[in-house]
Amino acid sequence: MISAQKSMAALISFSLLRNYATTGSIVASVRAPPGPSSYPSFINFLTANHSRRYLCRASATDDEEAAAKAAAIIADSGAPTIFDKIIAKEIPSTIVYEDDKVLAFKDIDPQAPVHVLVIPKFRDGLTQLGEAEPRHGEILGQLLYAARIVAQKEGILDGFRVVINNGPTACQSVYHLHLHVLGGRQMKWPPG
Ligand code: 5GP
Repeated sequence: MISAQKSMAALISFSLLRNYATTGSIVASVRAPPGPSSYPSFINFLTANHSRRYLCRASATDDEEAAAKAAAIIADSGAPTIFDKIIAKEIPSTIVYEDDKVLAFKDIDPQAPVHVLVIPKFRDGLTQLGEAEPRHGEILGQLLYAARIVAQKEGILDGFRVVINNGPTACQSVYHLHLHVLGGRQMKWPPG
C-alpha cells in the first residue's frame, strides 16, 4: 500500500491548500500523469482513505470520478475496513462514547472543532446507508441517539450537524456505515 502510494506520488502533482479559517474545507488540485491510463495504480492509491478524501474535495475530473467509483466497488466487497481495527483497538483512537453496539471516536482529519464518527460495532452488511434493510432499524436508531449523546458530551447540543456520506458521489471513503457529528463552529448551508 505504502509503495503504491509512493509510486503514485511520483506520478501525480498533488497540492493541497487548507483553508480552515473561512470554510473549514480542503481544496486540492490534482494533475493526472501524462500518457496512457494508469488506472490500476490509481485504484491502489485511492484505497488510502485520506488521499481519497482529498480527491473528493477537489473539483473532480472524469478520471477522478471513475477512480472513486472503482474504489467504491472494491471497498464494497465486504472486506474489513480501518474501522474494524479501531473497534478491535488494534489501532488507537480517541473514544468519546461506547456501549455494546456503538462506538464513537474522534475523526483523524477533523473538519470542525468537534468531529466525531459514530459507527456500529457490528457492521452486519451496513457498508453504507444505502444497504440498510428493515432489520437494521434498531441499530440505525441507536446510532442516531448515540450522535445526540456525543453532541451533549462535546458541549455542542445547541447546534451540531450529523452527516452520512453514501457512496462515491457523496465521497464516502470508508465502507463501514458511520455518522459524522460536526460542531463547534458556524455551519454553512448548502453543504459542499
Ligand atoms: P467518509 O469519507 O467515508 O464519509 O468518512 C470517513 C472518515 O473516516 C473520514 O472523515 C476520515 O478522516 C476518517 N478516518 C479514516 N481513517 C481514520 C482513522 O484511522 N482514524 C480515525 N479516527 N478516523 C479515520
